Amino acid sequence: MIKRRDFIKLLSGAGVGMTAAGWSGIALADKRRTSSTTPLVPTNIGIKGKVVVIGGGMGGATVAKYLRMWGGTGIDVTLVEREAVYTSNIMSNLVLNGQRTIQSLQYGYGNLANKYGVKMVQGNVLAIDPVGRKVTLASGATLTYDRLVLAPGIDFDTVPGLETPEAQAKVPHAWKAGGQTTALRNMITAMPNNGVFVMTIPAAPYRCPPGPYERACVVADWLRRNKTGTRVIVLDANPKIMAEPNAFLEGFALHGIQYYPNAVIDHVDANAMALYTSLQSQPIYANVINVIPPHRAGALITDNGLADVNGRWASVNVLTYEANHAAGIHVIGDASATTQPKAGHIANQEAKVCADAMVRAFAGKNPDPSPVTNSSCYSPITADTASWLTAVFGFDAATGTMKVVGGAATEAASRSKDNYEEMVKWFNTLMSDSFA
Ligand SMILES: Cc1cc2nc3c(=O)[nH]c(=O)nc-3n(C[C@H](O)[C@H](O)[C@H](O)COP(=O)(O)OP(=O)(O)OC[C@H]3O[C@@H](n4cnc5c(N)ncnc54)[C@H](O)[C@@H]3O)c2cc1C
Repeated sequence: MIKRRDFIKLLSGAGVGMTAAGWSGIALADKRRTSSTTPLVPTNIGIKGKVVVIGGGMGGATVAKYLRMWGGTGIDVTLVEREAVYTSNIMSNLVLNGQRTIQSLQYGYGNLANKYGVKMVQGNVLAIDPVGRKVTLASGATLTYDRLVLAPGIDFDTVPGLETPEAQAKVPHAWKAGGQTTALRNMITAMPNNGVFVMTIPAAPYRCPPGPYERACVVADWLRRNKTGTRVIVLDANPKIMAEPNAFLEGFALHGIQYYPNAVIDHVDANAMALYTSLQSQPIYANVINVIPPHRAGALITDNGLADVNGRWASVNVLTYEANHAAGIHVIGDASATTQPKAGHIANQEAKVCADAMVRAFAGKNPDPSPVTNSSCYSPITADTASWLTAVFGFDAATGTMKVVGGAATEAASRSKDNYEEMVKWFNTLMSDSFA
């Protein structure tokens, strides 16, 4: 069983200082950038291939970097990302209690371009042509590939009552870190004494199983210290707390959080700030409503016929992350359907398994028959204590799935200040492994 201090060691290639410098002056709007080869990318290892990666988040950035590190200069890698910088969701709950800013969670693509020779394209990919092996961007530009990696993360279902941008601004999800996260922080700080904060959790699978419960604790902890008489209500569509139940039940008791399982949203009236649920016919009125809608894979997957699991997710072969129904197209991170959690740490690990399998394929070899991945999450419970959860997954040939080694994930015995400090180290190491 893995020890918590080993999480960080399991992430390879780390330790280089992180920058939050955006694209470091790279020309934007679908303009490609190449750079000179660096010693980090080996030359003349005898394989050739052309890979396009779409989505420069935890999965996409990592696979692009490792394809160059392991495949060498013969692997031409282009990474297409619609945003100029990546904003980490991980740690974004700490924007809500004022411990971090959104800017402190932003990572540029300069290292991938300059150190690893990844060709960066800023743009939004709309269409995939699996027969012609090309993708089309919103700008009309096309890119051809030998192999394609899709890492678009998630999109949300529309919650009745929240169809318009105005309603969404009044009732943010803040589940893709960015402007909504800062807006939610401002709503929380503007809450009156005796105010009510309500948040909803969608049915699994959703990204970061402990994340919503962590959010409830962080917000309630801040409110308890800064406003009198406030209430935090958590409405969970799931039948129980989905991760680290011991840590969160203790946190909920500490902060006086009211937790209701099996609570499905019916609709929201954003003007009246009223939430209607399956629990009762009367609405719940609140000063701040934070609805996290049900998830599905990014539109790139659902719009291009790749969502073969409930019309929501893409099934993959976990030895390669190649889509089960689309040869040459790999899907990693939150968008794929596997037995592993939808988490940034797992997206990073899937990216490495995928990069390794692609490099082997370009060399005419079979994939590693027994890949191992690791997932870990630290969850702040108060402003200076955290708990953690970790699991190691190994390939199970009988089922063709990744199974938890040892049968169960391991959870921290209790929240602690030590865990909180390690959380910061773990986060910096993970982000360096993906972006530095
Ligand atoms: C509050 C919160 C806390 C979290 N905490 C943790 C944690 O402690 N530990 C952990 O492991 N995970 C955590 N997560 C989960 C983690 O953030 C996700 O699992 C992870 O980001 C998934 O990586 P990904 O590469 O699949 O998607 P993302 O990181 O979301 O990246 C997807 C990228 O694709 C781009 N994109 C999408 N479509 C297109 C397109 N058509 N064209 C071009 N670009 C496109 C997007 O702009 C985005 O940059 C947390 C999530 C939240 C919301």
